[in-house]
Amino acid sequence: MTNETIATVRTMKAAVYYGAHDVRVERVPIPTPKSGEALVRVLRCGVCGTDASEWSAGPIMFAVDKQHRVSGHQGPMIPGHEFIGEIVTAPPESGLATGDLVASGAGVSCGHCPRCLEGRTNICENYYTLGLNTNGGLAEYVASPTQVLVRIPAGIPLDRAGLAQPLAVGLHAARQARVKDGDRVVIIGAGVIGSLILMGLLHLHSDLDVTVVDFAGPKLPRAMEIGATRTIEPSDALASEVRNAIGARGADVTIEASGAPGQLTMAIALTRSGGTVLAVGLPKRPPEVDVHDLIVREITMMSTNAHVCAADMPEALALLGDRLPAELVFDSVVSLDDVAATLERLASGSLDGKVLIDPSL
Ligand SMILES: [Zn+2]
Ligand SMILES: [Zn+2]
Repeated sequence: MTNETIATVRTMKAAVYYGAHDVRVERVPIPTPKSGEALVRVLRCGVCGTDASEWSAGPIMFAVDKQHRVSGHQGPMIPGHEFIGEIVTAPPESGLATGDLVASGAGVSCGHCPRCLEGRTNICENYYTLGLNTNGGLAEYVASPTQVLVRIPAGIPLDRAGLAQPLAVGLHAARQARVKDGDRVVIIGAGVIGSLILMGLLHLHSDLDVTVVDFAGPKLPRAMEIGATRTIEPSDALASEVRNAIGARGADVTIEASGAPGQLTMAIALTRSGGTVLAVGLPKRPPEVDVHDLIVREITMMSTNAHVCAADMPEALALLGDRLPAELVFDSVVSLDDVAATLERLASGSLDGKVLIDPSL
């Protein structure tokens, strides 16, 4: 679509979030890019557990009905922080041109606060995320700062490229876990993000023993296909079953990727003295955690948030063009009209893979 046609169309189709269980497909104005932003025609946009939590119990993080400190966005808001698209217009200094295919990292950092200067742009003091704090990619068009846009290498199918942002999150988590070659690792939760963390770990390390814990169903054979050493279903005997499998000492690193109640305490129980627990899953309610066990066994608690755009996004895209079995977490491509139903499936736990929205459908 040319600039002239956009100027005459002026509105676009978007999925707009008003509150829990209230996402409406509407026609809204096509955004006007601000300084440093590109106008992107969205080709694919994923939805994830964060969006599903907003659907079932929000607004939690979504900047709806409250002023956001950075973007100043006030709801209703267009969600979608996992999008790829085609450049319509971009500032010349960005080096991006009309027609370029890009993936958006969505998390925007200021570049000058102490955390940005350390390279930890994902915990920037002025951080905001498209689709969480201001309008995102569940629309035909989105205005995105060019600093978070990364060119998609030639030859990557759109349905793979659409996994770039969640894979970047998985890679960042895999790095935060401080896993070493030879370690025994447990991952609690084999959903999309747990699976992408597993792919990240197996990409970064050659000699790992990885136990994946989740309920029976297609997620377990998928974890084995990705490269898990074994899978174990949760039960009252989980801690002893895991120790029987990996040794009485416990895991060197346990990654809690489910966000489910009680699982951080379980992660601590599965970890060896002096080992590491990485918290990934965002709990819906403040969790009760057995810190006694954590303290007396000197277990290190780590956390991970989003990804470092400049490092993790290009690496994710390179891996998607290469050997990573990312298609294993792909479910389907649907239209904007299917967003509400998809969020409901995600929130109810009946969706095991990644659904991508194609706004042109
Ligand atoms: Zn996400
Ligand atoms: Zn900053």
